[in-house]
Amino acid sequence: MKKPLIYITRKIPNEVIESYFDSFDIRMWERADIPVPRDLLLKEMEHADALLCLLTESIDKELLEKATKLKIVANMAVGYDNVNIIAARNKGIIVTNTPDVLTDTTADLTFTLLMATARRIVEGNNFIKQDKWEHWSPLLLAGSDIHHKTIGIVGMGRIGQAVAKRAKGFEMEILYHNRSRNFEAEQEFQATFCKIDELLDKSDFVVSLVPLTKETRYMFNKTSFQKMKSSAIFINVSRGQVVDEAALYNALTSKEIAAAGLDVFGEEPIRSDHPLLNLENVLCLPHIGSASVETRMEMIALCLENISRVFNGKEPKTPVRG
Ligand code: NAP
Repeated sequence: MKKPLIYITRKIPNEVIESYFDSFDIRMWERADIPVPRDLLLKEMEHADALLCLLTESIDKELLEKATKLKIVANMAVGYDNVNIIAARNKGIIVTNTPDVLTDTTADLTFTLLMATARRIVEGNNFIKQDKWEHWSPLLLAGSDIHHKTIGIVGMGRIGQAVAKRAKGFEMEILYHNRSRNFEAEQEFQATFCKIDELLDKSDFVVSLVPLTKETRYMFNKTSFQKMKSSAIFINVSRGQVVDEAALYNALTSKEIAAAGLDVFGEEPIRSDHPLLNLENVLCLPHIGSASVETRMEMIALCLENISRVFNGKEPKTPVRG
């Protein structure tokens, strides 16, 4: 009997997939560093029974129309804003994501970014490497404290709670905003639920961990930055499009807020001429929230497990229900 065909949109190590060779035919885009060209992906979709894709691929109506045999899209990310969920559902195609396995790794990165931005770590590193260090001085590269400050987490979900856990270790006061209250987080971290305006007004660190949806697109805009403290630091590890980047740039240059740490951008990848990159009070990372070797391997393994379960007549482990 013909084995189901999995198409994987990026080259991944053989050791993660070899245990599936007996049950599946596996085809892969040959490069690890660049995304599969769209026209090739569309061609591959004519034959694939399963797709393992990344957030660099737009799984839209056009692609799903071509995918006449496709049963499952296993997206290697917890966010699934790159997938047209309704179009997939209408075609009976299952969509899965990778929640939980990346939660702690992404929370580690979020807190690293928060700390590095507050304490000007990259500036300090560049300062020495550029031979600018002549003397010790009282306010040389003085940043903001983190301990005992107020953190406002927008999106107190899995990663938000893991960030709250880290913030608690720094004896921070924790505020959060969701559409619905998270009583578990309130109890475990003594987190206080706030309306968004109150959170923006009171927080020393505003941390975005909401998914990108119609509701959250540009939720951080000119008025949001105006409501923040002038000493506030904005951290975004969710998706770039939750922020109006022009408004963020203006808020940073006019000192409406103090600094920003960004792992994600409206259009990725950004280039060195991006206006935000020219600001000293911005620390940028290339969307590496979940990028530890262990977690990336677990994410791939979870995608393959979901695919395997579907072809064995079982429920996938982590279906997208949204
Ligand atoms: P999650 O558990 O679903 O948490 C999302 C939280 O956002 C929930 O608490 C949800 O609460 C809240 N939320 C949703 N819509 C909202 C709205 N309109 N206004 C206010 N709050 C809203 O997801 P997660 O696993 O923590 O992941 C969060 C996001 O992080 C992902 O969607 C992804 O975009 C991003 N992420 C980025 C990286 C990276 O590499 N930078 C890595 C992993 C994840 P309510 O439903 O009650 O509103």
